[in-house]
Amino acid sequence: MSFPVLTVEDLNVSFKTSKGVVKANEGVSLEVREGEILGLIGETGCGKTTFGKAILRLLSGKVKLEGKIVYRGTDILALPEKEMRRFRGKEIGIMLQNPSACLNPVLSAGRQIAEIYRYHEGMGKKEAEKKAGEMLELVGISSLRKDDYPHQFSGGMLQRVMVAIGLALRPGLLIADEPTKGLDTDTKLQIAELIVGLVRKENASMLLVTHDLELAGRLADRIAVMYAGEIVEIGKAEEVISNPGHPYTCDLLHSLPGKGLKAVSGQIPSLVSPPSGCRYHPRCSCRFEACLQVRPELLKNEGGRFIRCLLSGKEWKTENTADSPIREQPAFSCTEEDMALLKVENLRKYYYSGLFKKEVHRAVDGVSFEVEKGETLGLVGRSGCGKSTLGRTVLRLLEPTSGRVLFDEQDISGFKGSSLKSLGTRMQIIFQNPESCLNPRMKVYDAVAEPLRLHRICERSEERGRVRELIEAVSLSEELLFRYPRELSGGQLQRVAIARVLGMNPEFIVADEPTSMLDPLVQAQILSLLKNLQTEYGISFLFISHDMQVIEWMSDRIAFMEEGKIVGFR
Ligand code: SF4
Repeated sequence: MSFPVLTVEDLNVSFKTSKGVVKANEGVSLEVREGEILGLIGETGCGKTTFGKAILRLLSGKVKLEGKIVYRGTDILALPEKEMRRFRGKEIGIMLQNPSACLNPVLSAGRQIAEIYRYHEGMGKKEAEKKAGEMLELVGISSLRKDDYPHQFSGGMLQRVMVAIGLALRPGLLIADEPTKGLDTDTKLQIAELIVGLVRKENASMLLVTHDLELAGRLADRIAVMYAGEIVEIGKAEEVISNPGHPYTCDLLHSLPGKGLKAVSGQIPSLVSPPSGCRYHPRCSCRFEACLQVRPELLKNEGGRFIRCLLSGKEWKTENTADSPIREQPAFSCTEEDMALLKVENLRKYYYSGLFKKEVHRAVDGVSFEVEKGETLGLVGRSGCGKSTLGRTVLRLLEPTSGRVLFDEQDISGFKGSSLKSLGTRMQIIFQNPESCLNPRMKVYDAVAEPLRLHRICERSEERGRVRELIEAVSLSEELLFRYPRELSGGQLQRVAIARVLGMNPEFIVADEPTSMLDPLVQAQILSLLKNLQTEYGISFLFISHDMQVIEWMSDRIAFMEEGKIVGFR
């Protein structure tokens, strides 16, 4: 067995807030071995990103780190900051999530890579730029693009630039934090395989921090599962995936679309005052009395797997282990009396640019389809194929170049002013990023009440009751009503966005990648919520996603889109 290059022992990461001390990591112990890829998985907010940053002491000075982090004999927590600056990137590289936020928008990609060589290896400008060009080629970007700025790259390309930065100094260990978050399925796999290929070629090790269990299962040698700041399971990847040893791992697996998309209620607990006993007990369907009082230890079982559960070594089955998926057949099926609520005929949306506007980008190119009442039409295709533009053009958020959109037998293509405004309550959109439609200065109550006031949907005296009804419909607790968006999790934000949309009693909703930024358990909750709302209110959906499994689970019919055209239905 290869020796450990990184050993973390009993790591505690905590910081003070107005609500108390947040224990982001508690008693975390693990090792990454030479040439190994260790996947660290868990929901957003479980403490895995904090763990990755703690290894390189990238957390703010107010954060308290206790325990031991040793990399090839060097005690990282004891290194003076000056040496630490040399250590980062050279010994352990890191790829942080969200490249557009990490990269400097006013420096070209090549310059940002070249700066690393100049700082760490003292290279001259020309030599550093040449090395930067080589690094770009290595990650699949032409060196001719080294003078391009971050905004000139697509999401996948930006991620490649991050790979080049993370591996520029050929570190022995790479920490990759959510390297594929938000990318479409094809790009995700390409990027993941690129990183793993380069890491393996250098015989380096990698800590792959991700919420994507399937990705970790495919790429990692071993998997560590984190919940509420603690490691709950560590084992060989294929064993953890095929036979999870902890109920939380099992629930995570069954929340995947391909495994039945079974939602688990509740969320990660507060890390200020986590539940007594086992931290997973409020959500665990296997819990018994002792789980509420006894805090389980992370113990090694006979098969060499580490599991933190009082049932470890015994027979157990979660509610989600049942074989039947939540939804075995479409909730909706067309009958002869069914009418098309939405009819799109030969719709086009072109963008013109260049000298005399001669260059044409055909974002949507002659698309026709229908959506029945109460039906979900899934729209699937790669990033950039025109799905979102189509959704927005159908809703008249974008002006169509030509073609017709008939809603409830009315041609809405020419609607303007008040007729367009009244349409806004009947046709709605749920965005990929809920933060983009929520005012950061508006509390949840006002965010939900705002469209009711704007469209005069109810009397002011009825507003309070209606807001509470909507909050209940999206399964949010009333105590969140007076919180700001920044105080909510990604899943809670998306529920608030859905409550706003529901308030307008829409008949048709474009759901544009509503769960692509969420982790599997939250995704399962939101998709189940949308399905239930559809059954209850008879809403029709155009459901846009790049994830085929999600589309198959949600949709009655599926339309496939490529380069602005619908290329087939199923
Ligand atoms: S200790 Fe109890 S509550 Fe915790 S995971 Fe095991 S069975 Fe569930």
